[in-house]
Amino acid sequence: MKINLELCTGCGTCEKNCPLNAVVLEDKKPIFTAKCVSCSLCMNLCPNQAISLPDLISDDEIVCEHCPVGCRIKDGFTGACQRYIRKGDELVPTRSLVIPPPPSMQEIRQEIIISHPVITGIGAGTTYPDYIPAPYAVMEKRDDVDVVTVVTEAPLTYSSMVIKIDTERFIGNETAPVKHKGKVVGHVTTEQYGSKMISIGGINLMKGKNKVELTRLMVNIANLEEFELMVEGGASLLLEIGKPPIIDGVKSDNMKVACGAAIMGMAGPMLKGIADEVIILDADITGLFSESHVGKLMGFSPTSIKPPGTYATPGRYFGEHGDGWGGTKVMDPVDAIADFDPDKLFPGMRVLVLEVTGTKVAMLKLNEKKEFVKVDVPPEAERVRKWIYENREASLVSAIYMGGAGGSARAGITQNPIALTKALHNGEVVLSVGGVKAFVLPGGGINFMVDISKIKWRSFTWVPSPAMVVPIEYTMTKDVYYKLGGHKRKLTLLEELKR
Ligand code: SF4
Ligand code: SF4
Repeated sequence: MKINLELCTGCGTCEKNCPLNAVVLEDKKPIFTAKCVSCSLCMNLCPNQAISLPDLISDDEIVCEHCPVGCRIKDGFTGACQRYIRKGDELVPTRSLVIPPPPSMQEIRQEIIISHPVITGIGAGTTYPDYIPAPYAVMEKRDDVDVVTVVTEAPLTYSSMVIKIDTERFIGNETAPVKHKGKVVGHVTTEQYGSKMISIGGINLMKGKNKVELTRLMVNIANLEEFELMVEGGASLLLEIGKPPIIDGVKSDNMKVACGAAIMGMAGPMLKGIADEVIILDADITGLFSESHVGKLMGFSPTSIKPPGTYATPGRYFGEHGDGWGGTKVMDPVDAIADFDPDKLFPGMRVLVLEVTGTKVAMLKLNEKKEFVKVDVPPEAERVRKWIYENREASLVSAIYMGGAGGSARAGITQNPIALTKALHNGEVVLSVGGVKAFVLPGGGINFMVDISKIKWRSFTWVPSPAMVVPIEYTMTKDVYYKLGGHKRKLTLLEELKR
């Protein structure tokens, strides 16, 4: 790496953050040792922009192509991730491939036998107080094994939801409050790949002034009804599980294929010879083709063009959210070029601009005044846009219900609730909600999550305590039921219930 000592203040940020301890400060001056692989991390973190990447790769370095970083590695040294070491002209993995021991057929059989409940908890009702056995404990024989499901409709105040909205559009900043009918019901949470996420409910909001409205809202969402939310400082949302989101009155039916950099990797051969540069706009990672590994493989040369955003690794720029192309702030494709060196460009040079949902494409051409102007999109560029569009994901609203089952839901089965918790965590008991297997979070307690869209019936109700009433099913073999200290009572046979 190159250091500009006029800009360097000797703050030590590079030394502190280098994953390989490849830079050391001597007299407050950074010295890059032979371990340095030009991963650019220190360059990106330097508060004074004092570090830069050498343009040329030296003869004693080879470039790793196993990830977008492109480490330049000398013989005997590892890359920044330490997953590869150079031995002569080869980069070899530093770790062996891990192959897990196979489960026994008995373990697989046990897992399948209790994987779905004998009955659901929907319509089962609730018993109260908690020590009274749950309303139903029903048994059927499966492959000569007696399987028992114990069900209850548990009133859970520990109820929340994560709403997933597949869209490239900006809905609001993370942590922004989310309102329903003017009252706070949740917040925007961490964005996922191609989706915006909202967290609703939870015990602290369920205890607040707006508890009844909030509980009703969550029941309506869970029963697959349409609902409205407003993000503070962001968008208004009209949502329904299983349907495309309507954001600020406009149906959003585009979820990106992948980030801009990943599309370059997938569409690489299609982009060969199409233009002198290709930019794929994305609010998360915008791709710049000439700078990427795949662009180089396809014969592209550096252009000096920079897209909007912050440099991450070669050909990848972190973007900013907006209402423009690919969810960025770019409203006019000419603005996809944030910077270039006019001396390195030639009149007639062409730049293809795409975005990650395949809904827009533009071709730019450099004129004699060294300005980029829009020109007609040639058929081969339109073909790439169409390929992106056809591979975009369906844009839907989905939701995960998250609950915590403590009192009645456990004590209704056994007088030793801790035994049930342990059996759930070690796989002897399966928890389902409305017939759909739930994922139980690791650690203590019974905190679980379930995909609402898979629950077929209007399964959720509420009580004014307030709590969502959730159909909970615990399924296990009869042997496990008795081992857990299951309530001593006659187990109802499924055939008897059907009569
Ligand atoms: S470029 Fe990477 S490996 Fe080299 S000194 Fe900076 S952080 Fe360390
Ligand atoms: S995979 Fe290769 S390029 Fe990526 S960090 Fe590791 S050594 Fe560097």
